[in-house]
Amino acid sequence: MRKTLQDLERLCTVDAALADITARRPAMADIATSYALLQRARQAAREVLPGMSFLGDAPKMTSLVQGQPLLGPLLDSLAQPAPELLERFLAAARVILPAAAQAFPSLAPELAKIAVRFDKPDPGADEGPGLAAELLTAIGPDAENGPRPQTIEDIAKRLKLSAPALHMSATETFLAVLGHEASLLEGLVDQNVWRRGYCPVCGGGPDVGILKEGQEDSEFLIAKAGQLWLHCGQCAALWRFPRLRCVGCGCEDPERMETIVAEDDPRPDVERAHLCQDCHAYGLTVNLVDRTDRVNLEMLPISLLYLDILAQERGFTPLAPSPWNTLG
Ligand SMILES: [Zn+2]
Ligand SMILES: [Zn+2]
Repeated sequence: MRKTLQDLERLCTVDAALADITARRPAMADIATSYALLQRARQAAREVLPGMSFLGDAPKMTSLVQGQPLLGPLLDSLAQPAPELLERFLAAARVILPAAAQAFPSLAPELAKIAVRFDKPDPGADEGPGLAAELLTAIGPDAENGPRPQTIEDIAKRLKLSAPALHMSATETFLAVLGHEASLLEGLVDQNVWRRGYCPVCGGGPDVGILKEGQEDSEFLIAKAGQLWLHCGQCAALWRFPRLRCVGCGCEDPERMETIVAEDDPRPDVERAHLCQDCHAYGLTVNLVDRTDRVNLEMLPISLLYLDILAQERGFTPLAPSPWNTLG
């Protein structure tokens, strides 16, 4: 899909997308600039990570048939992260932490302290790979089964570091590692097999959906206006999903779904939020059908933040909550 969009010259850079957001919605300029810094850093992190996935050069795709994301075993291992993961985490952190410090200047001094701890030449228990392992365990799904069950807040208190800075270091760096994996793995996913509301690579929820031109197979016949592709809020992989189904609960009753657009939107058919009355989740979509302008897929979620505000004011919850789209 990404390749198809590139072939169609439909993609633009992070910088071009940022210029577009700043021009269209000046109030979003600051947050979009911070977001762009981290997106650029995620791209840069790919350059310093090995060209092979954790799953090797010929990963087995059979787990997808059972609805298991490809990186499920990696995520399940976070309570006891493997040395290779720690090595990659530390390599990515060297790129991510300076960008995070630029994006959030108030956290910069604390992020610098964390970077120094990561880079200790002769690291002790709370430094280098030891600290990386503690952080990955704390943000993983299985934290209570780690060798030393503790939260990010516990670690921050013990090491006299800021918990928000430590949390950002852990999550942004891990997301960069996941994004690198997705760039290696997403092309291998059979889009005819995966029909889930979560990412086939990492299991994350979608932060935006993209409607694009495309041939419809029988299951999707109803979607005359374009194929829906979901974009993972964690690793940025793309996958197809039935267009008129709620991603949160599978509801297909059009009476239970409501679409909202911004009041002042000159192109109300382009950017929308879809609210589900059954599960009270909402998803965002961008329609690329019959358009010639370019988009940056990673910047789309921040460009739609005004729709998050409208949907959350109505009491609905994002499909992929993040510090960016979780408002007041
Ligand atoms: Zn993902
Ligand atoms: Zn629903």
